[in-house]
Amino acid sequence: MGNVGAKDVPVLLSPEGLRIDGRRVDELRPIKIQAGALKHADGSAFVEWGANKVMAAVYGPREVHPRHLQQNTKAVIQCKYNMAAFSVDERKRPGLDRRSQEISKVIAEALESVVFVEEFPRTSIDVYIEVLQANAGTRCAGIVAASVALADAGIPMVDLLPAVAVGKAGGALVLDLKKEEDNFGEADLPMALVPQSGRLVLLQMEGHMTPAELSQALDMGVAGCRQIYERMKAALRERYAVEPAAEGSA
Ligand code: ADP
Repeated sequence: MGNVGAKDVPVLLSPEGLRIDGRRVDELRPIKIQAGALKHADGSAFVEWGANKVMAAVYGPREVHPRHLQQNTKAVIQCKYNMAAFSVDERKRPGLDRRSQEISKVIAEALESVVFVEEFPRTSIDVYIEVLQANAGTRCAGIVAASVALADAGIPMVDLLPAVAVGKAGGALVLDLKKEEDNFGEADLPMALVPQSGRLVLLQMEGHMTPAELSQALDMGVAGCRQIYERMKAALRERYAVEPAAEGSA
């Protein structure tokens, strides 16, 4: 990281309790979700969330490749999370690195807990997540996009899967970290919630916080997930809304 002098660290929380982009501690970045953004995938979704831009495309259930991954009792969910070379300010080396592999794996596992995989034995459900622009929270944006894309593909699920990161920045717990808060803050805690059961199916943490803060951070994240859930449902409603027939049209 090089030497970052104290003068280079931005003020993450103003004396009035506002964040670097003017948000309150429990405020999400603006989020826009478009279901069915791609023509050729079975299901897709485009998520713009703060400065993140993430596309998800879903294919399947279809034949499993490579064949040895096939399971006799359920579908396998194969997820590929990728950050485009142009998605960050300094060109990212293209291709699969350890971070992308880990994120792909944890997202696949989280999605497996909401998809009725037993209904489609010996098949694969392939989920592609392409991060076109990154500004912290891309795994959460990827999960949101992927689960709307799965719904758009008509794949039966227990529920959608909203996700958000809570963190600690400038000494306070904050919802939905942006890049500076992620880089210079004290903690980053991404999570994904199954809203109907109230269960978390993904939880990771970098940095440090006390158990009491962790408990408060979880409450904050769950509330954030519930807000995002409403946006996800609205995006699907918008996609499948039946336009009232125009007067006089056949
Ligand atoms: P997430 O995007 O889920 O928050 P991280 O915490 O690993 O995942 O990354 C935080 C942010 O750091 C990313 O959203 C991105 O803006 C930036 N970042 C991650 N990997 C790279 C990379 N290889 N090069 C440049 N920036 C990166």
